[in-house]
Amino acid sequence: MFDYLVVGAGFAGSVIAERLARVAGKKVLIVDKRNHIGGNAYDHYDAAGILVHKYGPHIFHTNSKDVFDYLSQFTAWRQYQHRVLGVVDGQFVPIPINLDTVNTLYGLSLTSFQLEEWFASVAEKREVIRTSEDVVVSKVGRELYEKFFRGYTRKQWGLDPSELDASVTARVPTRTNRDDRYFTDTYQAMPLHGYTRMFEKMLDHPNISILLNTDYRDVESFIPYGEMIYTGPVDTFFDNCYGKLPYRSLEFKFETHDTKVFQPTGTVNYPNDYAYTRISEFKYLTGQEHSKTSIVYEYPQAEGDPYYPVPRPENAELYKKYHALADVTAGVHFVGRLATYKYYNMDQVVAQALKVFKRISTGDEVQGAKSKRTLDLNTKLEIAVDTAKTKSSTVRNGRGTSSS
Ligand code: FAD
Ligand code: UDP
Repeated sequence: MFDYLVVGAGFAGSVIAERLARVAGKKVLIVDKRNHIGGNAYDHYDAAGILVHKYGPHIFHTNSKDVFDYLSQFTAWRQYQHRVLGVVDGQFVPIPINLDTVNTLYGLSLTSFQLEEWFASVAEKREVIRTSEDVVVSKVGRELYEKFFRGYTRKQWGLDPSELDASVTARVPTRTNRDDRYFTDTYQAMPLHGYTRMFEKMLDHPNISILLNTDYRDVESFIPYGEMIYTGPVDTFFDNCYGKLPYRSLEFKFETHDTKVFQPTGTVNYPNDYAYTRISEFKYLTGQEHSKTSIVYEYPQAEGDPYYPVPRPENAELYKKYHALADVTAGVHFVGRLATYKYYNMDQVVAQALKVFKRISTGDEVQGAKSKRTLDLNTKLEIAVDTAKTKSSTVRNGRGTSSS
């Protein structure tokens, strides 16, 4: 008998499993349909012996001391500040756009103060910043928006920036100084021996069992367990009863080159050329010494593994319905990037998982408390109708959707 069945061995599932086992003394079974732990942060040594990230470059950064301290129990770190160059008008220039970006592109020698004035002179006024286009044109004007953001975003998301929430391009700041780091968080570091090793340490506990190559749906009916932690896509959990939530996928193309260095920095972005968005070279991230080097190209696509929730109003509306349903599904806790449909970085997922663990362990998340949550009448009616329509989708291990 397991106290918890954890679906997914990525950050969300592994952090909660670790806390439940080590702190709360619970017996936990983690199930993942992939053949490895670590979720999208999984890394491994390729045929040449170079440490690569199977699901694209993962750079750890956070402002949260709690998150950093928590993970530091399972890994030592290598300090690393990520730098990105964009190839624009045939030149390598820093992204985020900074003083050097503008001076190089336009052959200018502006000071920071002059750049502020320059931005103000080209910026387009916006009363409200609603979309990813608004964010950029209101800061750096249309021309730089076209050079750096429009093409990249259309490739990455298959949507124009005007169709995406402001939060997407707002991830990339604009600077008037010469700081060329991609992130400015307090803690920026890579697990010294890689992510997978860190996950192995996290999950190395007698109370934790791991079942790989297994979809939880194939085993949940004959594995006795108390409650579930679910970290897969939330719409799939409910058999897409309200329709599919859109996700963006990627295809990764890896290459190993017989040269020490392939490109001038960890990641090079190609906003306007090629079908791929960026190329990352792993040795910059990991600090590994090797006579060869391995790189990865990212080709965005609509179909395939769900990697990115797509932040736009209609998707938020659809997610709200799944969220309401999740809220009244007793005995199941939804955690992580796919289960809460949030464009979260690793540290945000860790923070979310720690928070959910706290709620579980202090008893706030017990069935009674969940079922008392007030839902508006419409949502209740919709759920009633959909629950009736959707065969066993909300019946998990003998539990049904609780009434509120
Ligand atoms: P996942 O890691 O997706 O884990 C979910 C797991 O659930 C998966 O292993 C999946 O196989 C399993 N699962 C799903 N359904 C089932 C099922 N039915 N049965 C069994 N198992 C199931 N974040 C950063 O902080 N820095 C970065 O540099 C960074 N770079 C990124 C680059 C790319 C290309 C991508 C796609 C993401 C990047 N991220 C980055 C985000 C980071 O990957 C996520 O925040 C984090 O991995 C999410 O963890 P998770 O546990 O929520 O989900
Ligand atoms: N972006 C862009 N040009 C760039 C870098 C980013 O247009 O050179 C936009 C694009 O829409 C991208 C978003 O900003 O999806 C967020 O970028 P980030 O590097 O954070 O994406 P991630 O690493 O999550 O794929």
